[in-house]
Amino acid sequence: MNRKALCPQCGKVQPVEVVAREETYTFRGESVTVPHELSVCTVCGEELSTAVQAQQSLTDIRESYRKKHDLVTPSEIRSIRESYGAGQKPFGIILGLGESTINTYEQGEVPTAANSVLIRAAGDPATFKKMFLQRQHLIGPTQRKKIENHLEAYPSPYMLEEKMLSVHENPGEYTGFRKPDVQRMEEFLGYISVQTGKVYKTKLLKIAFLVDYEHFQRYTVSVSGWPYARLPYGPVPQEYKMLLERAERNGFIETRDYDDGTSTIEAGVCAQKLLKKNSFSDDEIETIKKVINRWNKATAQELSDYTHSLRGWKETEHARKISYSLAFEE
Ligand SMILES: [Zn+2]
Repeated sequence: MNRKALCPQCGKVQPVEVVAREETYTFRGESVTVPHELSVCTVCGEELSTAVQAQQSLTDIRESYRKKHDLVTPSEIRSIRESYGAGQKPFGIILGLGESTINTYEQGEVPTAANSVLIRAAGDPATFKKMFLQRQHLIGPTQRKKIENHLEAYPSPYMLEEKMLSVHENPGEYTGFRKPDVQRMEEFLGYISVQTGKVYKTKLLKIAFLVDYEHFQRYTVSVSGWPYARLPYGPVPQEYKMLLERAERNGFIETRDYDDGTSTIEAGVCAQKLLKKNSFSDDEIETIKKVINRWNKATAQELSDYTHSLRGWKETEHARKISYSLAFEE
């Protein structure tokens, strides 16, 4: 090959011959043997490496070490990161690796075994979502939004659940003119369960309904913003099963199931804290307490008879959402 390079021995640019040979290097305390391409000065016989050749050797050494230890590659990292629409910096922050680490890895730096395992784990959307939820407050709003949008495209059980629980609808007659907010609804159920003490599940759900309807009668706005459906045993919050599971997972309530098919609910570990948190206004708390005082000691039959006498119940078809506008008796 007809190439030229600066020969340090001759002190000037000379024609060189390119040769390849196996070389053994030490990388992270281990011997790594890779083919190394070098240039030989055709005038004095000096062996030299051009910048390009030196860079290529380093790339080959890293590649060989990565293969040997099965570590994540730069292109693998990039493809995982881009599947979430994340920039290098926010991706690193979410994984707890710092701002510049991902950039150096994608440039070819070899990750430690621990970081490699972590990055590969982040390739699973459900796992990445958990990491994201823990650390999203550390990244900017634009990146956060972008990643959220990408995560929505991956259906995992939890994500599907959140999608169903969070969208619902805009504020209107079925939400009591308040935007449904799953977190607020969980707190609502937790707060009620603190006030009721241990209570049958159906009763808790009916009390939630009665609080929302009563509050709507008084202030033309619901407390929770949650829609309720007309089911045979009473009005229940839409998707109440998922809602209860989620509220339990987040520590707002605890359920206990019995052999006869009933379950009771009591306040979870996080629910007590709600008493100190200003999640609900004084008016809302007053309505909650008023409804609980009236119905907490009532029998299931009495409560059932009462909800079945309401206009919202009588004028709504089976399994349909109950309009808050029916809270006003004619
Ligand atoms: Zn030379």
